[in-house]
Amino acid sequence: MTNELSLDHVRLTNRPLIVCDIDEVVLEFLTPFRDFLRASGRDLLPRSFRLHGNIVLIESGETVADDLVSALQEEFFLRQADWQTPAALAVETLAGLAQEADIVFLTAMPPRHAAVRRALLDRFSLHYPLVATEDAKGLVVKRLHAGRKLPFAFIDDISHNLHSVREHAPDCLLVNLMINADFRPLAPDPGKGVTKARDWTDVAQIIRAHISR
Ligand SMILES: [Mg+2]
Repeated sequence: MTNELSLDHVRLTNRPLIVCDIDEVVLEFLTPFRDFLRASGRDLLPRSFRLHGNIVLIESGETVADDLVSALQEEFFLRQADWQTPAALAVETLAGLAQEADIVFLTAMPPRHAAVRRALLDRFSLHYPLVATEDAKGLVVKRLHAGRKLPFAFIDDISHNLHSVREHAPDCLLVNLMINADFRPLAPDPGKGVTKARDWTDVAQIIRAHISR
């Protein structure tokens, strides 16, 4: 439950707030996950916008069973530091935005993986506070912003996270960014009230136009 999720380590200043997803936004996820799969004779095919059903054995073309897909994803997160790297211009753009806004990372992963992720982010000088939770992102964003009269923005690749924030924090600027170019065309349209960004340069322009109003 969100009530039990501690946000004590997140200290906000009296500036705009940018809440930012990690996988497929700040860090590459699908490309390194595909590379991780290929290292063990499997592959990820961009056939639809999901992992389950799209991981195959390279030799036979046979689709990997759903419970193994979940196990592979778990193993990848345990070993993420060996595989994941920042998306193009993510580090520089966030450093620029941090001059004018508070940045908080919000990643939808089991909290047991948070320490590995924290160390990985720090290695790339991404020292912004991290919240790792499987709670609805909208509830977390609402708690973080806490009704302050300051502009705030949320960046994510997944529509249901954007919609969760739209529901619980309707004043929040919603930005859709997905780094992987193979899966991006397969993603469902995020719909009304969500601004699509092509890359981090685009994200910076969209957010600056919002927070400098
Ligand atoms: Mg993501």
